[in-house]
Amino acid sequence: MTAQLQPLGAVTGYQHPKCYAGGDTNCSPKISREHFISKTLLRQVELNNTAKVAGLKWQEPETFRLVPLDGLASHILCERHNHALSPLDDAMGRFFEAIGECDRALRPSAPNLAMGCRGFSGVDVERWMLKCIIGLAASGNIKHCELKPECVDLLFGRIDWPEHWGLFFESTATQPIYHFGSIRIETLIDPAKSLILAAKFGIRGLPFYLCLGRPSDPKSIGIWRPSAITFRTGKREETLSLTWDGTKHGPVVILDRIGTYDGPPPNWKEWEQTG
Ligand SMILES: [Zn+2]
Repeated sequence: MTAQLQPLGAVTGYQHPKCYAGGDTNCSPKISREHFISKTLLRQVELNNTAKVAGLKWQEPETFRLVPLDGLASHILCERHNHALSPLDDAMGRFFEAIGECDRALRPSAPNLAMGCRGFSGVDVERWMLKCIIGLAASGNIKHCELKPECVDLLFGRIDWPEHWGLFFESTATQPIYHFGSIRIETLIDPAKSLILAAKFGIRGLPFYLCLGRPSDPKSIGIWRPSAITFRTGKREETLSLTWDGTKHGPVVILDRIGTYDGPPPNWKEWEQTG
């Protein structure tokens, strides 16, 4: 169920100057290397300890580069706060893996097994996305922009998420979703204020938004905090249920499988397909 993210034991009274979570003066003296995209996820997409990455601040536009996994880590959290947040990486690793299992289970060639339902904490999936964006911003990997100051308190559960902030499943009624094996992250920025308003996450192709503010028309973004994602083909179903700790949330997202393909998703741009 939903993870507790407070550092264990008595408050240390110390604030490490490089730790973005140090506002609670509960740091350890040693800084750690934090992977802003969890190592558990990178391990699922890596090849020979490298991951194919595009879109970071220091990269040429529209170009993939093989980056060693350690090149995707920065000194942005003390050991104590890094350890406190590690349950989110485990939760997201399991969720990422489960999406792939649902896809495999519904392929035409898969054995006709009983319907499956697996439970996840939606709160943790949502907080993993926030941790990822805070990490990208704190490590200087997103160009010239900032996050709202309350984001760290939201991450550690010190304040409640306002209604219609947080995770949405993007409304894609008019176009198909293509499953793929990787992660895609895109930030949406208010250029006038250099402020990150939202981020778009493709998690194995499933399109999510993390909104760091209330959208003017939440329904146009998609389904806010869905209670489950059901993958359906004919009479077979696989469901990933999402719990929200008794807070308000949205309905089930149902995805009907319309086909199977090999290779990169057909809707990717040319540089993405060949990169
Ligand atoms: Zn700290």
